[in-house]
This record gives sequence, C-alpha cells and structure tokens, in this order.
Amino acid sequence: MREIFGDLIGNEAIKHNLGATIADGTSSHAYIIEGPRGSGKRTVARLAAAALSCENRRNGDAPLPCGGCASCRKILRGLSPDVITVSTEGKASIGVNEIRELKAGLYVVPNDSDMRVYVIEEADKMTVQAQNSLLISLEEPPEFVTFFLLTEDATALLETVRSRSTVLRTEILGRDAVEKYLLTLPGAEGIRKRDPEKFEDALSGSRGSIGPAKDILFPSESGKKVKAAEKKAMEFAEYLITSRIGDAITWVLSEIPAKKGLNVAKELIGYVATAVRDLTLLMKSRNAPVYLFTDRDRAAEMIASVPPAYGAAVFENVTVAMDRLESNVSARVCWFELVFSCEKAGTNRNK
Ligand SMILES: [Zn+2]
Repeated sequence: MREIFGDLIGNEAIKHNLGATIADGTSSHAYIIEGPRGSGKRTVARLAAAALSCENRRNGDAPLPCGGCASCRKILRGLSPDVITVSTEGKASIGVNEIRELKAGLYVVPNDSDMRVYVIEEADKMTVQAQNSLLISLEEPPEFVTFFLLTEDATALLETVRSRSTVLRTEILGRDAVEKYLLTLPGAEGIRKRDPEKFEDALSGSRGSIGPAKDILFPSESGKKVKAAEKKAMEFAEYLITSRIGDAITWVLSEIPAKKGLNVAKELIGYVATAVRDLTLLMKSRNAPVYLFTDRDRAAEMIASVPPAYGAAVFENVTVAMDRLESNVSARVCWFELVFSCEKAGTNRNK
C-alpha cells in the first residue's frame, strides 16, 4: 500500500482522509485542522503542502509526499515561497489587515510549485472582521490555492468559516506510539539502555506529543549555538544579496573549514537558505513572514536596489549548494561555487 504522510505519527484518520484525497486529486480548497497543542497540526499542514505539489503525487508507487523531488525538498525544509504562514506574530489577534495582505497575493500564480498553500496558525485568533474578510477566498479560491486553518478549537471560528471548510482532527498520541517513534531516532535505543529513567521521563513528559519527549531525550543544542549560526548566516546572505563578493569569500575562508567541513557546511547552509528566503520574500512584500531578518527596516534598506530576479537567482543557487552538500563534495569548494554562481548572476543582471 502507498505510504502516505510517513512522517506523521498516529493520526490514521487524517492520513486516510486528507492523504487519500490529495493522492487522487479530490482534496478541498479549505481545511480546518483542529487538535490539542502538540498533536501535529503543523506537521499535517506541512506534509499536505508538500503532497499537493509533489512531483510524484500521481505515482502510486512513491510515498506521498515523496520527500525527494525539488518541490518536496523546498517545502519540507520550510523554504518554499509558495507556502505562506500567517500567525499572530506575538500580537493578540490576526486582524483584517493581515488577511487583506494575504488576499492581495491570492491570484498571483505560485513561484515554483503547482500549488500555493496558506497556513493560518491559531486561526481562532482572527478577529470577526478578519474571518469575514476571508470568507469569499475560502469559498472560491483560485484553483492553485489551498487553505489550512489550524486551531485548538474549531467552534471558536465563525460558523460561516467552518461551513466552508473540511474539518480534520489531530489526536494526541498514545504512549506506545510515542515510544515507537522515539526509538526510531538515532541514539534513543542507547539512552533507553544506559539511562532507563531518562527514557521514562521522556515518555511521561511527552503528554502525547513528540516535541517535548524529544527535548527531554536530547536537550537541544544550546540556543546560543543556534543564535550564532543564524547571525553568521544572515551576514553571508547579506554579502550574497548585495554582491559583496570579497566579503563573501573572506566569510567562507573563516567559517567553512578547509578539511572535514561538511557537517558545519550542511548545518550553516540551512540557515543561509532561510536568510536568503527572508530577503527574497521581503523584496516582494514588506510584510512578508520572515524568520531571521526581523529588523525589516534594516533589511529593506539592504535590498532596496536589488532586482527581485537577482534575489531569486541567489536563492536558487543556495538550494543547488544545499543539494550538492548532500552528495559529499568538498564543503569549501561547494561554498565557493555558490559565491561565484551568485557573482555570475550579478554580472549578467548588469548586462
Ligand atoms: Zn515529492
């Protein structure tokens, strides 16, 4: 039988209903994914987004999403410009302005996927006006658009919104399912043998979701390390986007080890891709959802004179480098190729 949503643990009903309709092309335009915190709502939305644009979605022998095609790789890494997340961003509600912004781009055809997906997190935080403003789009979106409204409680949404959407429910996992999943992670079996108490803590601390269990089992690399990597990546992204080739080369020489640099390089390239993605989205809209360049004023200044086509070329080159690094090339050679491919794109743009 075809593997559908293989990365989703439990939640068989969703795999069956949503996965199967995507596979045979009969999925709805709008879904409400309702479920308790940590029950996999975002995972469902991400997998569905990948499945909708997967190049192998019509191939019954491939898993859905296949995970290997160009579209899946971008979407599953959170790098696709065609998956747009709307959230409160720390505010109390999602207002009518955010929804207007969303609707302004609704009919623009997707960048490089077949479909564009809007994920509205904490959808119940939409104000009544925002929900009303969304109604017609939910009812008759362009055929390449699918909405996922995530919420812990669908009844908190207007009836008119609910009636225009298919409601799916994610479920908290049973202890067995959590344990089975944890044991698929590298190193987990070893911890269970060496430190059964810790393993037990992870199971009981999970409360039915994977995230907390993983955090207990593998206390995450310190936030500091992540912050440092983000900062480096933002620097490098700035050099590429603003065509400061000399600075980019100096950066590579200092950050990517000449020997055995592959792991460092693989880790950093992910952050660089996110940073460049931020900048290319900001070129299109000042209110675009960003992860790293949250200082929008500064970012806007940086990209003011950069043609969007050049931004897109840099992003493309970064995803190429990302793939090349997976095939065990020399890390430094790969990063230099990235710098020079961007330089070339920059020279061509001036012609
Ligand atoms: Zn695919």
